[in-house]
Amino acid sequence: MKKKYSRNIIVPIMILFYSIIKLSAYPWPLAGMNTQHYVGGTFGEVRGPMYGLDHCHRGIDIDNGTTETAVYPVINAKVLAKTDNAVIIEGIDAYEYYTYDHLSTISIQQGDTVYAIEADSNRIGYFNGYGSNHLHLGDGYEYGYGFFNPLFYIEPFSDTYNPEIEYIKIAKNITSSTVSPTLCPTNSESGNQRMGEGDKIDILVKAKDQIATYGGYNNGIYGVEATIEGPLPDDDEIVSYEGFFMDNGFFNYNSADVNYIYAPGSKSAQSTTDTSVYIYAPTNNYTSDGYWDTEGLEEGRYKIIVTVWSLIDNDYMHSDEDSIIVETGNSSEQPSFSERIQQ
Ligand SMILES: [Zn+2]
Repeated sequence: MKKKYSRNIIVPIMILFYSIIKLSAYPWPLAGMNTQHYVGGTFGEVRGPMYGLDHCHRGIDIDNGTTETAVYPVINAKVLAKTDNAVIIEGIDAYEYYTYDHLSTISIQQGDTVYAIEADSNRIGYFNGYGSNHLHLGDGYEYGYGFFNPLFYIEPFSDTYNPEIEYIKIAKNITSSTVSPTLCPTNSESGNQRMGEGDKIDILVKAKDQIATYGGYNNGIYGVEATIEGPLPDDDEIVSYEGFFMDNGFFNYNSADVNYIYAPGSKSAQSTTDTSVYIYAPTNNYTSDGYWDTEGLEEGRYKIIVTVWSLIDNDYMHSDEDSIIVETGNSSEQPSFSERIQQ
């Protein structure tokens, strides 16, 4: 059955429950615990050294201008561990862990009991001046069950803006060792990218989300998927790719996930004036390389439809949809007569 999306529809979240389902919401981990704060980095964003892909972001970055900011527990907890700049707390009544990173001052000791109440006696510490002056909150910890996406649970949270697709392109199959994608050539007559006989194709989607007042205009998206229809004018769906969603349980330390989810050319910002780039490859999934196998594909033109998603709040998400037309045949060949009269 063919799937049809209208642009920017709002749908309930289809969470993929992989491990543990959390039942409770939690407040913001900094002063003003019951008001929304600025999210400068979302869960699953690409991270790594200069222009490299190293790992997917295992939490959210909560910015607060240039102010030294006190942070508090999001759950009644014991202090499980601390380093010079990070603290892990463990729920007293729940099997939950939270990681606080990039702290400038730490106010508590390992073993302390702290409560999710904004008071000096519960203060974990302060952040002040790290990067864009942010606290990194991880919902989980490195050697635990993996990490949850905090934007499912933190309250209040509302993102009123839609994600945006900047472009869709096709490339020869990229693998974890591809340094630079080989884009399929463009037919100068039709303007469409062309696939050679039996090419293995990855779909590349440059996209971003915005949380506007509460997060700026260049956050990573929550999920992406793709559908291929054709040959045109036939609009039968011939294959669809579930892509991936920045969901619970993923992104353990040193994960190779990043190489499948993100195409080369993606990067995380290296300074406050630099801009992150998110190029997703929905033909892959978290843990393995995938592609559109065009072996035996009927000659003609095909429509690639991509949908990206972002979270509106803890229960709903919204989307952007876009599409491109691609065609069979190498760029060195002229389109056939029948192709030309279709254009
Ligand atoms: Zn972070």
